[in-house]
Amino acid sequence: MPLVPLLPLFHRFNREHFNGALVVGSQPLLSVRWSDGRLRKTAGFYRRGLRVEASQGCEIVLSRPVLELLPQTATESTLCHEMIHAWIDLVLQVNEGHGPHFRSRMSAINAAQRQFQVSVRHQFPVPKTPPRWWAVCPRCGLRSPYQRRVDRAACRQCCDRHYGGSWHGSCVLVYEPAYQEA
Ligand SMILES: [Zn+2]
Ligand SMILES: [Zn+2]
Repeated sequence: MPLVPLLPLFHRFNREHFNGALVVGSQPLLSVRWSDGRLRKTAGFYRRGLRVEASQGCEIVLSRPVLELLPQTATESTLCHEMIHAWIDLVLQVNEGHGPHFRSRMSAINAAQRQFQVSVRHQFPVPKTPPRWWAVCPRCGLRSPYQRRVDRAACRQCCDRHYGGSWHGSCVLVYEPAYQEA
């Protein structure tokens, strides 16, 4: 169950794909967090709060139950998708869903890198291939199947239990190959 820290990714995407527009000084214009276990109908969303000038007023929420089963590229693409919504709302100050501003920024991001592809979807098909890795939690011993090693992913259960749901270095997963040669 991966729980990668979202803020470093947010800052990197902000620099690489939004010309730094989503951060003023060192203060992000919005907050970014993982959902609890109940957000299952969408991979993520952006919402505008009541206090727009405060960073806590607006937020991006990514779904743990949807994204924890998928490769990290799904998290990256979902975060970027929601950052486009935030950028349209907070920087362009235009009322738009997946319209022309969204699509032109999405195309620019997809053309600029090959790591992941942003789409207009808010949901992902769940892959059915067998795991290549087992991720083992050093604290609780929980084993979870992974297709790809996710750098600095932490045990969700232990982060919930010991750190109020925040990522913590003591819960970082250790990987074992899923197939052992006879
Ligand atoms: Zn969208
Ligand atoms: Zn654990």
